[in-house]
Amino acid sequence: MKFSLARMVQEQVERAADIIDIPENIREILKCPMLLLKVTFPVKMDDGRVVCFTGFRCQYNNIRGPTKGGVRYHPEVTEDEVIALAAWMTWKCALVDLPYGGAKGGVICDPTKLSEGELERLTRRYTTEIMPILGPHSDIPAPDVFTTSKTMAWMMDTFSMFKGYTEPAIVTGKPEAMGGSLGRKQATGRGVAIVIRELYNKLGWRLEGATVAIQGFGNVGGYAAFFLDQMGAKVIAASDSSCAFVDARGLPVTELMDCVEKHQCLAAYGKLKSCDRDSVLYQDVDILIPAALENQIRKDNVTDIKAKVISEGANGPTTPEADEILEKQGIHVIPDILANAGGVIVSHLEWVQALSGLYWEEEEINQRLEKRLVRTFEEVWYKVQERKVPLRTAAYIMALDRINEVYRYRGIFP
Ligand code: NAD
Repeated sequence: MKFSLARMVQEQVERAADIIDIPENIREILKCPMLLLKVTFPVKMDDGRVVCFTGFRCQYNNIRGPTKGGVRYHPEVTEDEVIALAAWMTWKCALVDLPYGGAKGGVICDPTKLSEGELERLTRRYTTEIMPILGPHSDIPAPDVFTTSKTMAWMMDTFSMFKGYTEPAIVTGKPEAMGGSLGRKQATGRGVAIVIRELYNKLGWRLEGATVAIQGFGNVGGYAAFFLDQMGAKVIAASDSSCAFVDARGLPVTELMDCVEKHQCLAAYGKLKSCDRDSVLYQDVDILIPAALENQIRKDNVTDIKAKVISEGANGPTTPEADEILEKQGIHVIPDILANAGGVIVSHLEWVQALSGLYWEEEEINQRLEKRLVRTFEEVWYKVQERKVPLRTAAYIMALDRINEVYRYRGIFP
C-alpha cells in the first residue's frame, strides 16, 4: 500500500485518543478534513507560453477558530501531503492554545525554475482561485517551503485589490513594511531552540558544547542553528537541497545564513567542501534537527541515527514506525507540533496586530513567544510523567483534550 502522510497523522492521533477518553463521535469528525479545494489554473510564462498549474487548499478543522496554515510551492506537493499538513496545523494550534483551526495550501511547481514575474503571476492567480474560502476570520495563509514574505505580499495585495480595501490580516509572515510582525522570520527556529533548551533543563543535561546537525538550512533550520549557537551549542553539520557541510570544529553559522540569504543555497559557500547530503542525518551528534521535509526518518534508516535528541523543525519528518524504534532506544523526540509551533505563535501575534492596528516592539513579541512555548512545554512534560508516554503522544493528548472540550460546549450543528 502506498505510504500516506494523512494516514500517518491519523495514527499519531489515534495513539493518543486510545489513551484518553475521546468520544467515538468526535474521533469520527477528526478523521477527515472539512474542506479540500483543488484548483487548476493557467499562468502566462515569460516566453509567451501558457502553463497550467495545480494547487490545493485544505481546511482541516475550524472548531477552535479560523483555519491557519502555510502555502507550499514544491514539485512533490500532493493532495495527501496538504491534508496531512492541515491536520498537523489543527493539532499544533490546539496544543499551544491558539484560537485557530488548521489549514494548508500548496501548488505543484518548481519555484527554482520560475522567474520572479512567473512566480508573482502564479501566486496572484492561485490566490484568486482559492479566494472564496480565504478571509481574516475564515482562513489565513502564511509562508512554508519555498514561499516567502514576498509571496505573502502578493497574496495580500491580490486579496485587497478584489475587496477594495487593504486587508493586512489576510496573511501572516508578510514583510514588516506592510504589517508583518517583528520577530516572525526568526520565530520558528527560535522555538525549535527554546524547546531543546527546556528539554535539556528537564533532563539535567548541559546545552553548552552539545553538538548539533541540521537537515534543511532554510528559514527554520538556519534560525534554529543561529539560536542554538547563541545558547552555546555547536552546530557541526548542515545540509540543504544543494549540498551538505560537516566540520567537527563547528560551522560558521552566520556566514552560512548570509550565503543562503544572498544565493538561496548553501552550495554557493565556497570555503567548505560539500559532502553527501543525507550524511547529516547520521552524524554522531547530541541533537538532530530535521528541518526540511516529511518522511526523512523511516524504518529503513532510523537505526543509523546517533543523536540523543531529535527536535522536529519540519512537519512530519519521522514515520510512526521509526518513532517506535526511537522510543525503544530512549531517544527523545520533540514532536513537530511542539518543536516548530513558534512560527504560528508569532503568526497569531501578527494577525492580532493587523486586526487591531496596534504594533508591538520585537521584545514584546519574543517574550510572548517564549512564555507560551515554555508553558506548553511544561504542560506536555507533565503529561509525559503522568501518563508515562513519549513527548509526541503527550502533545497529542493535550491537543485532543482542548479540541474535545470545545466540541463539548459547541455541540454538533444542527
Ligand atoms: P525553506 O524553504 O526556507 O527551507 C527548506 C530547506 O530544506 C531548504 O534549505 C531546502 O533546500 C532544504 N531541503 C529540501 N529537501 C532537502 C533534503 N532532501 N535534504 C536537505 N535539505 C533539503 O522552508 P522552511 O520554512 O524552513 O520549512 C522547513 C520545514 O519546516 C517544512 O517542513 C515546513 O512545513 C516546516 N515549518 C515551517 C515553518 C515556518 O515558519 N517557516 C513553521 C512550521 C513548520
